[in-house]
Amino acid sequence: MKRAWSILPDEWKPILKERGLRPFRADQILQSLYRDYIRDWDAATTLPKDFRETLKVEFPFTQCETLATSESSDGTRKLLLGFEDGGSVETVLIPAAGRFTQCISTQIGCAMGCAFCASGSQGLVRSLSSDEIVAEYMAGRTFGDITNIVVMGMGEPFANYDETMRALKLINAGKGPNLGARHITISTCGVVPGFAKLAAEGIQFELSVSLHAPNDALRSQLMPVNKRWPLDELLAACVAYTRATKRIITFEYTVIQGINDSRECAEELARQVRRVPMAKVNLIPLSPVSHRPDFKTPDERTMLMFLDVLMKRGVQTMLRRSRGKDADAACGQLRIRHGENATDLKHDRKS
Ligand code: SAH
Repeated sequence: MKRAWSILPDEWKPILKERGLRPFRADQILQSLYRDYIRDWDAATTLPKDFRETLKVEFPFTQCETLATSESSDGTRKLLLGFEDGGSVETVLIPAAGRFTQCISTQIGCAMGCAFCASGSQGLVRSLSSDEIVAEYMAGRTFGDITNIVVMGMGEPFANYDETMRALKLINAGKGPNLGARHITISTCGVVPGFAKLAAEGIQFELSVSLHAPNDALRSQLMPVNKRWPLDELLAACVAYTRATKRIITFEYTVIQGINDSRECAEELARQVRRVPMAKVNLIPLSPVSHRPDFKTPDERTMLMFLDVLMKRGVQTMLRRSRGKDADAACGQLRIRHGENATDLKHDRKS
C-alpha cells in the first residue's frame, strides 16, 4: 500500500493508466493534494465518489498527530509529531524577516552519535518514510507559507537517502508544493557516499556539511562518523561535489567552549575549508544539551575571535544565532522533555 504523500506528481498519470482511469484525473488529484491541501480523500470533491473510495484504500493519508508544541519568545515554534506506530519526531518553524523556515527531521532518533547532539544521545529508532517527511511539511504549513526548508532536524539525511530525496523532490515539484530547490538545504554529518548521489540528482538543493572540528583527532571524538569517513575523504567528496555541481558548500561549525574554540582550531579550520574551492562557514554557538552538562556555550568574544580568524584568512563566514532557546531549544530536546509519553524512547529513561 502506497501513501498519497509518497507519490511524486509525475507518477500519478501512469498509476491511473494502469487502472484504466483517464489522465485528467491526475491533475484533479494534484490540485486537491497541493493546492487545496486536503488531508482526507472525501475532501477531493472534484473526484467521483467511487474513485475517492478507491483512493482511500489504495493511497491513504499518513497519520501524523501533533503531540506537543512549544513556542519561544522569538516566535520559533516547535512541534512534536507522532506517527501511527507511536514514533515521534520534532519539526521547528522559524520566522525571520521575509522568511518562514521549517527545520525537518528524517529519522526517529539518529545512529550517528555526535557527542553534543540530543538526537544522537537517543540512538536510532527508525528512518522516516517519504510520506512521513512530507507529513511534517504539511503540519508545518498549517502555520503559514513555508519559504525555506532546512533538513537539520533529527536524523542523518544521507543515512536515509532515498526516502529523504523522494520527499524533497515531491515538495520541490512544480505540480506539488513547488518549493524552490535553492530554498531547501540538506545538512549531513559527512556520510560520504551521499555527496556523489546528490550531485548526480542534478537538482539545485543547497548542501551543508557539519564539520565542528578541524582535525581528525578532535572530530573523531565529537563525531564518530569521522572514524568511518575521515576529514581527507570528506573534504575530497566536498571538492568533487562543488566541481560537479558548481554549487557552494556551507560548513557548519558548532563552537563548544574549551573543546573546539581555540585560535589554533580557527586557524586549522580556515586551512581545511580553503581546500574546497566554493565553501563558506556558519559558526553556531552550542545549544546546551542535558546529557552533556560539561559542554558549554562559548561567550561572544570567542565567537568573534573565531569569526575574525576565518575572515582574515579569506573564508566567507557567518555568525548564526541559535533560535528558539526557550522552546526546548534546538536539536531533539522537546522529544526528550516529552519522553514520558513517547513510547519509542529507548535510551532516554535515565535522563
Ligand atoms: N545529521 C545532520 C542534520 C541534523 S543536525 C547533520 O549532522 O548535519 C543539524 C545541525 O545541528 C548539525 O550541524 C548538528 O551538528 C547541529 N547540532 C546538533 N546538536 C547541536 C547543539 N547541541 N548545538 C548546536 N548545534 C547542534
